[in-house]
Amino acid sequence: TAFLDRIESQDAAYGAFLKVDRAGALESAERAQTLVDRGEGGALTGVPIALKDNMSTTGLETTCASKILKGYVPPFDATVVSRLREMGMPILGKTNLDEFAMGTSTENSAFQLTRNPWDTERSPGGSSGGSAAAVAAELAPLSLGSDTGGSIRQPAALCGVVGFKPTYGRCSRYGLIAFGSSLDQIGPFARNVEDCALIASAITGHDPMDGTSLEMAPISSEGIKNGSLKGLRVALPKEMFGEATHSEVAAAVHAAAEAMRQEGAIVEEVSIPTISLGVTTYYIIAPAEASSNLARFDGIRYGFRAEGTGHIGVVERTRAEGFGHEVKSRIMVGTYALSAGYYDAYYLRAQQVRTLMQQEFERTFRDFDVVLSPTSPIPAFRLGELKNDPMALKLLDFCTIPANLGGMPGISLNCGFAEGLPVGLQLMAPVMQDERLLQIAFSVE
Ligand code: GLN
Repeated sequence: TAFLDRIESQDAAYGAFLKVDRAGALESAERAQTLVDRGEGGALTGVPIALKDNMSTTGLETTCASKILKGYVPPFDATVVSRLREMGMPILGKTNLDEFAMGTSTENSAFQLTRNPWDTERSPGGSSGGSAAAVAAELAPLSLGSDTGGSIRQPAALCGVVGFKPTYGRCSRYGLIAFGSSLDQIGPFARNVEDCALIASAITGHDPMDGTSLEMAPISSEGIKNGSLKGLRVALPKEMFGEATHSEVAAAVHAAAEAMRQEGAIVEEVSIPTISLGVTTYYIIAPAEASSNLARFDGIRYGFRAEGTGHIGVVERTRAEGFGHEVKSRIMVGTYALSAGYYDAYYLRAQQVRTLMQQEFERTFRDFDVVLSPTSPIPAFRLGELKNDPMALKLLDFCTIPANLGGMPGISLNCGFAEGLPVGLQLMAPVMQDERLLQIAFSVE
């Protein structure tokens, strides 16, 4: 009730939530109480959580912040949602995002702006801006987001909270409305690494309903406090500290690296040259996959339907009116990149670069335990400042994209301030070393 009341009185200033489910949350809180009374509760029983509005929730409208899904009420729960319900975690509501998770500022939502709680004239980052702002403004103790190219880590950095993208395949995407299927991962936002590990353990683990789900146990939060920085080998890729990185952001991350060195870590600068190709590679692969995934929104099966003549007429008008500008532009880029005659020049080449990048990271991880970098090259920018410069916005993704292209786990933690705004540092570990990454993050925090 305290969180619901807080959302009611405060969220007008932030716009983090698209929908609040007071009745559902209170009902689930009562069930949680019963579990606790019976001695069947776990650490998270009764702890409320907010969900990015691209995760399917039975009986609760799920829109992806798109007009095309307005009014769509899923008949099933995403696997992460059923797991939260089983644990007795009340779902407070659905949070704002860039339409279909395409963006870096949450300004591509068809419905509303979300404001950064540190400075409401600024963006919370994106695309999971609503989930990040909800935790930063203490409207929810925990939330979930999805990360295709940085959409958990970057808003976590800009809002001064912790955001974690698990290894590709460790968290089921069944019921997550797909954007880029070879990149998408669900993960949590929390106020500290320990909470983040706890909720990660609740949502991960094998799921037969997701064909890409790894046959691995849920992420364990058990040993997270047993780590030490002594002897830890830390790589700082110089490509992530270049000209595009704000000097105060670089200084905050370097100061964190220096503090790690003081505690016995071995910190070295390295070069991972394909990092500079990450943005272009990602912005071929992600739109290509999106153009295919978004083909299902035809006005017949889900949500909004426009008036039109005949079947084709209805589909055309629905898509013309239902999708926003950024989504349309990605569908066009993706369709182009997959077309006969262009496939080899764009999509195939992008996949080749992706493999090269994976190999370079594997090589780096032979000599190092973690890669440390800024999460975002700049702190929170003003709302509207980059809205009409989609290219500039996309160029901000170079620190986060490699973990998606390589499938590696990545986490963002606050490490100080630049121009009075939070700065996030990012830690990346080899695939499937999620537990180790959380342990290191706990020691760094
Ligand atoms: N900013 C990236 C994009 O616009 C990443 C988005 C995401 O991770 N969902 O595609």
